[in-house]
Amino acid sequence: MTKVGLTTQIERARFLLTKAKRVAFLTGAGLSAESGVPTFRGGGNSLVWRSRPFAELSSAQLVREDPKLLWEWFDYRLGVLAKCQPNAAHHTIAQVGATGWFETVSVVTQNVDGLHTAAGSVGVIELHGNIRVARCTECSYQTEIEGLPDKVRPPECQECGAAMRPNVVLFGEFLDSQDLNRAQEIARSADVALVIGTSGLVYPANELPLITKSSGGKLIEINPEQTALTDLCDLSVRSSAAHAVPMIFEN
Ligand code: NAD
Ligand code: ZN
Repeated sequence: MTKVGLTTQIERARFLLTKAKRVAFLTGAGLSAESGVPTFRGGGNSLVWRSRPFAELSSAQLVREDPKLLWEWFDYRLGVLAKCQPNAAHHTIAQVGATGWFETVSVVTQNVDGLHTAAGSVGVIELHGNIRVARCTECSYQTEIEGLPDKVRPPECQECGAAMRPNVVLFGEFLDSQDLNRAQEIARSADVALVIGTSGLVYPANELPLITKSSGGKLIEINPEQTALTDLCDLSVRSSAAHAVPMIFEN
C-alpha cells in the first residue's frame, strides 16, 4: 500500500462511512491514552507495578491467592482513573450515537475505565467489565467501589458477607457470554466498524473485526502504530484517536 497523508486517510474514512447504516466502534486502551489512562502494550508491554507485570497482577489466580494485593493494585488504578476525563474521541463517539446520522451506532469496548459512558454513550458493551464496580465472589451482589469502606480489603458483601472482587475480567477468566454474543452480533451486522486504539492481541475481542470483515463489512483502524489487525483493515488512519476521530465525523 502506498503511503498517503492524514488528510487523505480521513477523506477515505469519510467515504467508507457515506453509505453505512450500521456503524460499530470497537475500542481498546489506546482510545483512553489521551485521557491519561496508561495502555497495556502501547508502552512496549512495560506496565509494571511493585515490580510485578500487569498480566500477573490482573490474574484470576490472585482473587484466591492474594486478594489484598489484587485490591491494592485495583485501588491504585482507580486512583489514576480519578483524575481522568473522557477525551475528544469519547465525546465524538457519544455525539455520533446521539445524532441519528446512522441507523444504529454501537460501542463495544475492551476498556474497563467507564469513559465511554461518562462521555454520554448509551448501551456500551464493556467486554472486560468495569473497574469502578465490585462484585461478590459468592452471590450476585454488585456495587460501586466508591461507596464501600476503603479500609477493608477485600471488602465484604453486604448481602452474604463473602469477599468482594473487582468486576473486571481477569487473565484466565471467560467473558460474560451474553455480552460476547451481543458484541459478535454487532460485529456481524456492521456495515463499517472503526477499530480504535487496540493492539488486536487480546482474544476474543480481537476476533470481532474478523467477524465484521467476513460478513462483508468494512474496517477502519485508527491507531498511530501498525497492529496485528492492520492487514485485515480496509483503511488504517495513522493518528491518535483524540485527533482523528473528531476529524472523521466533523460536518
Ligand atoms: P493495548 O494496550 O494492548 O494496545 C493499545 C493500543 O493503542 C496500541 O496498539 C497502541 O499503538 C494504541 N494507541 C496508543 N495510544 C493511542 C492513541 N492516542 N490513539 C489511538 N491508539 C493508540 O490495548 P488493548 O488492545 O485494549 O488490550 C489491553 C487489555 O488491557 C484489554 O484487555 C483491556 O481490558 C486492558 N486495559 C484497559 C485499559 C482501560 O480501561 N483504559 C487500560 C489498559 C489496559
Ligand atoms: Zn454476596
